[in-house]
Amino acid sequence: ANFGFREVPEDEKAGMVGAVFSSVASNYDLMNDIMSGGLHRLWKDRLVSELQPFPGMQHLDVAGGTGDIAFRVLDTIYSKEQRSPQKKEVNEKEVVDETRVYVCDINASMLDVGRQRAKTRGEPGISVCGQIRFKFLMVKAGLGELPSLVWVEGDAEALTFADDSMDGYTIAFGIRNVTHIDKALREAHRVLKRGGRFLCLELSHVETPIFKQIYDFYSFSVIPAIGQMVAKDRNSYQYLVESIRRFPKQDDFARMIINAGFSNVQYENLVQGVVAIHSGFKL
Ligand code: SAM
Repeated sequence: ANFGFREVPEDEKAGMVGAVFSSVASNYDLMNDIMSGGLHRLWKDRLVSELQPFPGMQHLDVAGGTGDIAFRVLDTIYSKEQRSPQKKEVNEKEVVDETRVYVCDINASMLDVGRQRAKTRGEPGISVCGQIRFKFLMVKAGLGELPSLVWVEGDAEALTFADDSMDGYTIAFGIRNVTHIDKALREAHRVLKRGGRFLCLELSHVETPIFKQIYDFYSFSVIPAIGQMVAKDRNSYQYLVESIRRFPKQDDFARMIINAGFSNVQYENLVQGVVAIHSGFKL
């Protein structure tokens, strides 16, 4: 069923996605919390724990928007630094200089919100226990910008990064919005080093009978209504819901990842497939 939504022609998709994310950028984080009941935080934690970030890592988070994944990657690297006795010997500057987490997004408004969040996180006043040195380094680096965090405006389908340059590639709630998914997957494969890992977190397909009906009602009726009430923007949230239904099913998407050249491709369903994490390696 298409629930009355019109099909979006391919040549209109990029423009429409641009308009949607420019419109939702300022409410984006709040809306994620409301629509998922806070669960998106746990799903993102799960993605980053699968990634196993390490000090000195070169990581690319595509469609990184407001920095949710990048901040988690850096927090994980930093807490590993603190726990590991050998790492205490390492000069602070060296650690900060080697690690690079690139946030690549096609939408300047989303990146602006992310940069702003990076600054807020840099304020020592809101430091959380165990994060104080991290926050301090961010402030020292100037206006909350951490040298290891790099914001890049760019397209998942034509990345500006060198071949074989990244240890990890993540894309969270992003690939669904890309016009040519196969091109984005080939680009992910190109920029990863041999042994590098691809991880994708995406809203996916629920097949469990009763749960599916509840989920359909929630997404087609409740989400656009919340979009209207909170963000005063029903259409953008209707588009988001519709784009979930168009996205390939778990097995089909896994095949697309294999076709892009990845090995050991697997996926994990969370909440009956409301969300799936797909993973592959460049060998
Ligand atoms: N990853 C973030 C998160 O999980 O909160 C943001 C996800 S948001 C739903 C989708 C993001 O994909 C938007 O910021 C949008 O600008 C970006 N996007 C859409 N098409 C893109 C493309 N072709 N290349 C890069 N980013 C894209």
